[in-house]
Amino acid sequence: MIELKNVSKWYGPVQVLNECSATINKGEVVVVCGPSGSGKSTLIKTINALEPFQKGEITVDGVKLHDPSTNLPKLRSRVGMVFQHFELFPHLSVTDNLTIAQIKVLGRTPDDAKKRGLKMLERVGLIAHKDKFPGQLSGGQQQRVAIARALSMDPIVMLFDEPTSALDPEMVGEVLDVMVGLANEGMTMMCVTHEMGFARKVSNRVIFMDVGGKILEDCSKDDFFNHPEARQPRTKDFLNKIL
Ligand code: ATP
Ligand code: MG
Repeated sequence: MIELKNVSKWYGPVQVLNECSATINKGEVVVVCGPSGSGKSTLIKTINALEPFQKGEITVDGVKLHDPSTNLPKLRSRVGMVFQHFELFPHLSVTDNLTIAQIKVLGRTPDDAKKRGLKMLERVGLIAHKDKFPGQLSGGQQQRVAIARALSMDPIVMLFDEPTSALDPEMVGEVLDVMVGLANEGMTMMCVTHEMGFARKVSNRVIFMDVGGKILEDCSKDDFFNHPEARQPRTKDFLNKIL
C-alpha cells in the first residue's frame, strides 16, 4: 500500500529525513513515535505529497510520488490526513466542512456529498451538531469532525499526526475510540502518536524515529513493548520517559 525506499529530505543544509525505508501493507496500523524534531510530521507529510523530498522513492497504492508526471492533487484526495490542530474551516458549518472537498475535489453533487458526510458524522457520534460552527464545539468534537471529513473522501489510507496531543485529557478518549474503531474495521493507518495505550491495543507495528530523521526501529508491537532487551538504547530511553 505504502512503500518508502531510502527517502531523504533536507531543509536547506539540515537533513530531516535520513534514508527512511518502510512498508505499510493494506489493513495495517503503524504507530510512529520518537522525540520532538525527529521528523515524524515531515515523514507523514511526504507520504501525502505535502512536502517534497530530494532522494528516494515513495509509492502509495501503486502511484509513484517521485515521478514528476504523477497527479499529486488526485493522490492527495485519496489519502486522509488528520492533524494536531483540527484545521476545520471556521466560517463553515460542520456540514459544509464535511462536503466542500467532496464537491470541489471529487466532483460529487451537493446531495451525494451531504449524504456521505452526514453518514460519517453519525459514525463519529456527532450528528446532533451538524449545523454548528467549529467554534461551538469542544476540541475533541472538532477533531472527530476532522476525522469524519477525511473519511467522507473515501480514503485508501488515513494518516494521523498527533491527533490527540492538543486536546484536554478528558477528550483524548473519545478521539482514540474513533481511531480504534477504524483500525478494527481494517482501515490502513499510519499514526504519529505518543498514546502508547492506543499503540498496544491496535497497532501492528511501531516505527521509532530518532533525531536526524532516521528510522531507528521498525518492529512488531510485541517486540517493541515486550522485548526491551532487543531495542536500541535510544528507544529504551524514550520508552522509559513516556511509559
Ligand atoms: P514534534 O514531535 O515536535 O512534532 P517531529 O518529529 O514531528 O517533531 P518535524 O516537525 O518533522 O519533527 O521536524 C523535523 C525537523 O525539521 C526539525 O528539526 C524541524 O526543526 C525541521 N523543520 C520542520 N519544518 C521545517 C521547515 N518548514 N523549515 C525548516 N526546518 C523545518
Ligand atoms: Mg510533529
